[in-house]
Amino acid sequence: MCKEKIKQKTQIFEKKTYLCKLFGRTMYFKDIVGQRVLINSLTRIIDSGRISHAQLFLGKNGYGSLALALAYAQYLNCENRVHYPDVDEQTQLRADSCGKCPSCIKYQQLVHSDLHFVFPNTAVKSTDKDVSSKDLMQEFRTYMLENNYYIRLEDFFEYLGVEKKQGAINVRDAAEINRILGLKTYEAKYKVMIIWMIEKLNTAAAPKLLKILEEPTDNTVFLLVSENQDKILPTIRSRMQNVQLRKIDEQSMRQYLHNILPDGNVENILQAAEGDIIEARNIISKTEQDHLFAELFVTWTRQLFKLQMLSLSAWVDKMHTMGREQQKQFLLYALDSFRACFLKTVAGINLGYQLDFGDEKFNNAFPRMISERNIEGIENVINKTIYAIERNAFSKIAFMDLSFSISKLLKQ
Ligand SMILES: [Zn+2]
Repeated sequence: MCKEKIKQKTQIFEKKTYLCKLFGRTMYFKDIVGQRVLINSLTRIIDSGRISHAQLFLGKNGYGSLALALAYAQYLNCENRVHYPDVDEQTQLRADSCGKCPSCIKYQQLVHSDLHFVFPNTAVKSTDKDVSSKDLMQEFRTYMLENNYYIRLEDFFEYLGVEKKQGAINVRDAAEINRILGLKTYEAKYKVMIIWMIEKLNTAAAPKLLKILEEPTDNTVFLLVSENQDKILPTIRSRMQNVQLRKIDEQSMRQYLHNILPDGNVENILQAAEGDIIEARNIISKTEQDHLFAELFVTWTRQLFKLQMLSLSAWVDKMHTMGREQQKQFLLYALDSFRACFLKTVAGINLGYQLDFGDEKFNNAFPRMISERNIEGIENVINKTIYAIERNAFSKIAFMDLSFSISKLLKQ
């Protein structure tokens, strides 16, 4: 049973990695999930040559606004755009980039010298001074590529280790935009400046950017991306042409989910994700994490009854290799599980999902071990361990201590 689950999980993981490799570095329109009507109208406008020098892509990041801006820029500069006689049956597109011309190839690697990014930024190290997007460009590129351009600001900041900071597009960014505009266009038809999360524009930087937008240069295209137009300064907003993204349609979402989870229960995720790719990915990784935690929980508590030192210390070693955040998440999971067992034993309340440890025998037998005799003690020692982990305690000792305490409490 457990082995089967692990095998299944490994397959899912491999499939995900494979898909990342396959799609991670391309930015065709066809790689965007859904949004077909919008894309087809955009390519029609570009083909007609009526190109706005300042576009605002509006919509949640999980709908694909940044991905769309990038595919738009690639198509704009493609030297050999592909047009289908009607609409391509497979992709539902009327046109796309070629993916083979020198411009497309450089776009795919995000190394095109006429493609620029500006995004909210902040000091990462305490010694960092006067930072701008330029200082975090490497990290931003890597993060975009790893996540297929479906990214959120709070997740990017977590990746940088600065999740508690606000971040802004600042005056140094505006100065850098000015500098780049002064450079000659190296190799492209259009110089493209993508400004992600423009609602984070610092008020001090606004006048400078406004001036730039008011005096467009011939071959520069600004692609601004935003989740919330109400937070953009009205003076900036009024100079933009809007491209509104909506929820990804159900059929496209279902197809996407089937691709990454061939055997998974797609319907529940589909409903909960509400047309948002990032939401869907979060639900999937949460489910995978819960499977892992359930396995760890079962192994652990079984050892606590028998107090087999050898296997217990192997378990502690395994916990020790996890990051602190994941250690904490496991402890919270354990806390919820013990509480759910208590409610079942004492009040007959069945919290279904929280009581499914992926092992029928365990599911039936374990909850009975938790009662009013030990629940309070268990809660106390787990909370104490969470507190210790948060304060950088040596996790091997913390988990070993916790194991001894809970072992005693379980036998009460
Ligand atoms: Zn091309």
